[in-house]
Amino acid sequence: MKAIVKTSRARGASYRDAEVPAIAKDELLVRVTAASISPGDLAIHNHSGPDFATPTLPFIFGEEFCGEVVEIGSQAKGFDKGDFVSVESHVFCGVCGQCRNDQRHICQNLRVIGRDLPGGFAEYAAVPARCAWKHTDDSLKDIGAVMAPFGSAVHAVLDEDLVGRAVVVSGCSPQGLFAAAIARAGGAKKVVALDPSDYRRRLALKMGADTALNPSEAGCLQRITRLCGEEGADAVIEMSGGPKAISLGLKALRPGGRFVAFGLPVQDLSLDYAGDIVRRGIRLEGVSGREIFRSWYKMESLLKSGAVDPRPAVTHRFQFKDFKKAFALINSKEKKCGKIVLVP
Ligand SMILES: [Zn+2]
Repeated sequence: MKAIVKTSRARGASYRDAEVPAIAKDELLVRVTAASISPGDLAIHNHSGPDFATPTLPFIFGEEFCGEVVEIGSQAKGFDKGDFVSVESHVFCGVCGQCRNDQRHICQNLRVIGRDLPGGFAEYAAVPARCAWKHTDDSLKDIGAVMAPFGSAVHAVLDEDLVGRAVVVSGCSPQGLFAAAIARAGGAKKVVALDPSDYRRRLALKMGADTALNPSEAGCLQRITRLCGEEGADAVIEMSGGPKAISLGLKALRPGGRFVAFGLPVQDLSLDYAGDIVRRGIRLEGVSGREIFRSWYKMESLLKSGAVDPRPAVTHRFQFKDFKKAFALINSKEKKCGKIVLVP
């Protein structure tokens, strides 16, 4: 088969031949139909970044993908050949304290497909059956590759009731764009999106944000406060990981507001911990991945009802062989892209 393979500890990757993976008893062999590029994939490609990992080389990466089941391990129950699945890339152990307490997404022995285990930038991928989400009809097949990241945004945004709340989405990466749409669908009275890129601010408006502001412009904090009401935002969904954005987000919250920490900072942070968090009673919540599979059920319902549509955020599609163009676009200063999907 053909695959996008990390072959050296330097920036870049190769499109080349690879062995079709042999599956274990509890795995499915999936013929990949689409894979989207995640922040983790970008870090592996660039050999740097907040989500950087060093897999054993050569390594097929690709964390977010979907496809058709073509082979089933003897102990993989509940699937038939021809089933269409999206992949939950977080492989949980099922036996640790976190797994036993319904927190599989933060399993103590978590391994990630595409980071610790071979991924979906290939014609075929092996997937543990417990990490496959079976589609019950054809309606979401075209967005099957982006369901995992969309699920993360569902988890980040809808952990708490947002009806009638003012929400700031900090960072309009694909995750931020999804978050803006989900906040809107979740009943927020106001959704304010922040991003330095004109292109991504326009996308945020398309996805359902009421206003999109450039956080580098003077007076941004005052504008947010004015838009959200006197006290500030009820919730900030921080998707960028940028130190300035994190500081701005904390200051934009009303006392007692909820700060969702999702974006990963590249450098150390300097925060007014006492002034911005403790004394103002801010509720800080780290979010990693999505709840397995509670977020998937919520997402399916939101998508099938038409309450949210991630499609406008999926701006580009490239063939696997043209992967370099895709990564060049994401790495460009202007970032004139939303989610990018790669197809075999
Ligand atoms: Zn576990």
